[in-house]
Amino acid sequence: MTTDVVTFGCRLNAYESEVIRENAQKAGLENAIIFNTCAVTAEAERQARQAIRKCRRENPHAKIIVTGCAAQINPDSFAQMPEVDRVLGNTEKMEQKYFEPSSEHARVIINDIMSVQETAEHLIAGFDGRARAFIQVQNGCDHRCTFCIIPYGRGNSRSVPLGVIVDQSRILLEKGFKEIVLTGVDITAYGADLPGKPTLGQIVKRLLAQLPELPRLRISSVDPVEVDQDLLLTFERETRLMPHFHLSLQAGDDMILKRMKRRHLRDDAIRICEHLRRLRPDVTFGADIIAGFPTETDEMFENTLRIIEECDLSFLHVFPYSPREGTPAARMPQVKGPVIKERAARLREAGLQNLDKTLARFIGREVSVLLETETQGHSEHFLKVLMTHPATPGTLVTGQVVSIKDRCLEVSPSNPSIQSS
Ligand code: SF4
Repeated sequence: MTTDVVTFGCRLNAYESEVIRENAQKAGLENAIIFNTCAVTAEAERQARQAIRKCRRENPHAKIIVTGCAAQINPDSFAQMPEVDRVLGNTEKMEQKYFEPSSEHARVIINDIMSVQETAEHLIAGFDGRARAFIQVQNGCDHRCTFCIIPYGRGNSRSVPLGVIVDQSRILLEKGFKEIVLTGVDITAYGADLPGKPTLGQIVKRLLAQLPELPRLRISSVDPVEVDQDLLLTFERETRLMPHFHLSLQAGDDMILKRMKRRHLRDDAIRICEHLRRLRPDVTFGADIIAGFPTETDEMFENTLRIIEECDLSFLHVFPYSPREGTPAARMPQVKGPVIKERAARLREAGLQNLDKTLARFIGREVSVLLETETQGHSEHFLKVLMTHPATPGTLVTGQVVSIKDRCLEVSPSNPSIQSS
């Protein structure tokens, strides 16, 4: 009987689930299901509990282990579930010994995540069923945005040394991966805890220099005011650094940004987008935005709606505000539920309209596509692609955009008979 890992939440969790999968196999754990949970919203936690109950009904004899941010922050809520055999913290989940079937460990093992100083160094061998590989370069966060529970699940910011990142990238390249995504919790804080304080831009530059065979490097999410000079220079010069940035924007109104304790104002976000577009005009942007943050008035919301066009955002992750117990924002005057819902819907609609404009700009252009299936993939701009001719999943194919279909670029490969290796 196999062991499955069910992943919720972010790309960092996806990377860690690969480490968990490999450790569980090495430990000889069988007939088990491991839930790697997320705590970013109350809804994410509710979904995890629902999935655990369903899993127990379908697997009465399997071992159920729960870990991830929701388990780290709220262990009792899972320990109280009769369906659950073990609850592990975010540090413990990275250690093989806690998955050994015979281990006499306690049922609940959660250490003080704020005491963790270093990232756990793991080299994964691959990424089950994925065309692109996520690599952890940083974990934790030193900021305390008023709505956010993540630092209490992940601890303070800590960085992975460059040597480990290069070794990990080499292993994945040898496995045939064509694209690597650098991920973490607050990756623009990279290096502040390392000797010489290397920046994110510096390690990106060195990584590309040390790995000439790496076709595509992508950065997961950046803080608008923490994009360093080396990252801008490398972005300008290196086409292997993908022309797509996902911004941790959260709102487009200065008063709300201040009440969120964010480090940027709306003009900072607009400025960095304009700068990146001057460096590479085909760059695309995505962003996380919260709808209905406490005290948000109609006028403040309109400022957030307007920033979609001002920053030319094509990929919007809209989070209806969800009060997280213990955060300052949960104690602020709340916006009514139906208003939050309506604002979230308007943001999503505005995001789709902007995506349509972006897609239309690519008709007739040549793009490079990383295929995730024989006919579907993503361009270097992270636009979804439908191929007119099938090709091998996991390969890079160049082609011309012939039309737009289902909000995807329809791409005809430059040479259907020859698939690029
Ligand atoms: S930067 Fe803010 S939103 Fe992001 S993880 Fe840190 S505290 Fe949370």
